[in-house]
Amino acid sequence: MAIMITEECINCGACEPECPNTAIYEGGVEWTWAGGTKLKTLELEDGSSIDGNQAMPPFSDEFYYIVSDKCTECIGFHEEPQCAAVCPVDCCVPDPDVVETQEELRAKKAWLHAE
Ligand code: SF4
Ligand code: SF4
Repeated sequence: MAIMITEECINCGACEPECPNTAIYEGGVEWTWAGGTKLKTLELEDGSSIDGNQAMPPFSDEFYYIVSDKCTECIGFHEEPQCAAVCPVDCCVPDPDVVETQEELRAKKAWLHAE
């Protein structure tokens, strides 16, 4: 299960540098697959590919947000989600729309950081 940031966020920025996958971005800021990962190129299901450094549109313009596809609940790096651990208002919570098993999260971490 990926972590999500709720509208309770006060935009303090404490969580962003803690993410081992660079899955957290400030509201309004574009994100990339390659940021904090080894993903140089992404193969899409239709056979095309995109550059990992391509700027992607932000998921929120108002609050810090988490790119679910880059969130591994910190598996392989930390014992618990670091964003949730440092958030002063406890607005980093499990995303009920992105449910993943521990095995899936480990595979995701390996995919993000494959050499
Ligand atoms: S749980 Fe970990 S990997 Fe996911 S967004 Fe928070 S700090 Fe990043
Ligand atoms: S630590 Fe919490 S309040 Fe601060 S930016 Fe991150 S999600 Fe928002």
